[in-house]
Amino acid sequence: MVLSLRKRFLLRLSLLGVTSIVLLYVASFALVQPRMIAGETRSAHANLDRITHLLDSRMSHLNVITRDWAQWDMSVEFVGGRMPTYPAVNFSEAMLKDAQQTLMVFFDQRQQVRWVVGIDPSTGQYTSCEGGKGACAWSLELVRLIDRHLSSQPPRSESWLLSSPMPAIVATSPILTTDARGPTRGWLGIVQLLDESWQEQAKTQTGLQLSIRAVPKAYPGRMTVTPHSTTIKRDASDKMTVTRLIKASPESAYLAITAILPRTDYQGGIRALFGVTATLAIIFILTLISVAVLLERLIIKPMHTLGTYTQTLRHQEDRFYPLPESLLSRDDEIGLLARDVQRLINEERTRNVTLLHQTRTDELTGLANRRQFEECLQKALEQARTAETPLCVLMIDIDFFKGYNDHFGHPEGDQCLRMVGDLMQSCFAGGDELAARTGGEEFMVLLPNTALEPARQRAEGLMRELGERRIPHPGSRVSKYLTLSIGLSILKPGTERSPKDLIKAADIALYAAKTNGRNRVVTEHGFRPSLNDQ
Ligand code: GH3
Ligand code: MG
Ligand code: MG
Repeated sequence: MVLSLRKRFLLRLSLLGVTSIVLLYVASFALVQPRMIAGETRSAHANLDRITHLLDSRMSHLNVITRDWAQWDMSVEFVGGRMPTYPAVNFSEAMLKDAQQTLMVFFDQRQQVRWVVGIDPSTGQYTSCEGGKGACAWSLELVRLIDRHLSSQPPRSESWLLSSPMPAIVATSPILTTDARGPTRGWLGIVQLLDESWQEQAKTQTGLQLSIRAVPKAYPGRMTVTPHSTTIKRDASDKMTVTRLIKASPESAYLAITAILPRTDYQGGIRALFGVTATLAIIFILTLISVAVLLERLIIKPMHTLGTYTQTLRHQEDRFYPLPESLLSRDDEIGLLARDVQRLINEERTRNVTLLHQTRTDELTGLANRRQFEECLQKALEQARTAETPLCVLMIDIDFFKGYNDHFGHPEGDQCLRMVGDLMQSCFAGGDELAARTGGEEFMVLLPNTALEPARQRAEGLMRELGERRIPHPGSRVSKYLTLSIGLSILKPGTERSPKDLIKAADIALYAAKTNGRNRVVTEHGFRPSLNDQ
């Protein structure tokens, strides 16, 4: 099976196109996507760092405020039980709210709770109680945790994170005189909740939606928490949840700061990547199409034309037409090939025509030979039968030609045959008439659409023409000159007859002419006196 060049090219080009585009797509995503993910991870860490810094600065700030309260002679006096007006003068709901503080706990030198002032987060109730009892009972848990922390640490100003009972920043500071001299007179603890209002503020400052909550230490699975352990969950294509665990007190739980970050950069990157890949793919496809069109115009179509041309010639050997000029005039390899093909075909045609001519022509006289005569007789018979016209056949033989050869020699005999051939050619040159040399000195003539009598007259006309040339023939026993004997057969209109039969009948008539004195025309079933006898 012949797979056309066009199909072959299209198949290969399509395969190349698809493979290249897939490779381009895979390679670009395989190379770029991990970098984008890494970039996104870096940006998530940076965002969490910003939140952590915010928290740190909050803690430092609270630390400073706590220390300011604690290193104050008034506070020393107050925890020493010597300044009963201190709470009324210094504590108020507005002051706590302004400072976004939930609780202040004053301990005396023996770390006994001296005073608690705060706003109950569950009720919003402002309470200020000596010893932390009564209305301030809501703060017991917080006070206990601060107390425990103070017991476990050397006396210093610091701030730390609390995970339960609620996320909060706690700052603790030893109470000292304003000049920070002398022994510790007590302790102050201030609690600032990391509640929704803090989250709102953080959002205003960082632009990030975040939440903060306590998580049990088992979270998350076996992950070891280094300070600031971070997990990133890419839950959706447009957002991801990043969580940072921070050590807090009590140690059974961590504080988890969670921010939901948009994946705008990643999505934009992917879109850009997709756009670039798609553009490259389109450019590649267009290139392939251009290559295909170029191939089609430069190679495939011309080759197809050439192929069709040689195919057609093979099936229509009798027809001839040249290759299109557009192919022959090309100045490239295809033009070269086309011109060579054309030249070879032309040469073969010429050779074939010559050979065909040679097989159908008598070499000596240039008349048709027996093969051509029989072909023409066959066709003429069919035409005569169809048209219901008569058809006559003459069989002509030179009388005593052997004697001519004997007398003048063979070359002169040949010359004589040529002369007789020429004569016959001139006598029977009508449209469909045909004169042929069918044997050594034997000729036949085909006279289509000719009845018996006119045919006979034409035969006699030939004999007359020859007679007028007065060609000496000493070897003849019937005349001093070259003579002919002619047998004539006929296909009458409306009758059936085979070519063989018609030739046979002419032969018999010729034989009759020979046996009845030569130099005469004999029609089949009838005799005719010799020209000499007349
Ligand atoms: P008839 O009147 O009975 O036809 O006698 P004929 O001598 O013509 O016939 P025959 O068949 O005895 O001899 C034919 C001669 O024709 C014999 C041969 O030498 C001669 N001949 C045949 N072909 C050629 C040819 O090509 N060239 C020449 N020069 N002679 C030829
Ligand atoms: Mg003969
Ligand atoms: Mg003869």
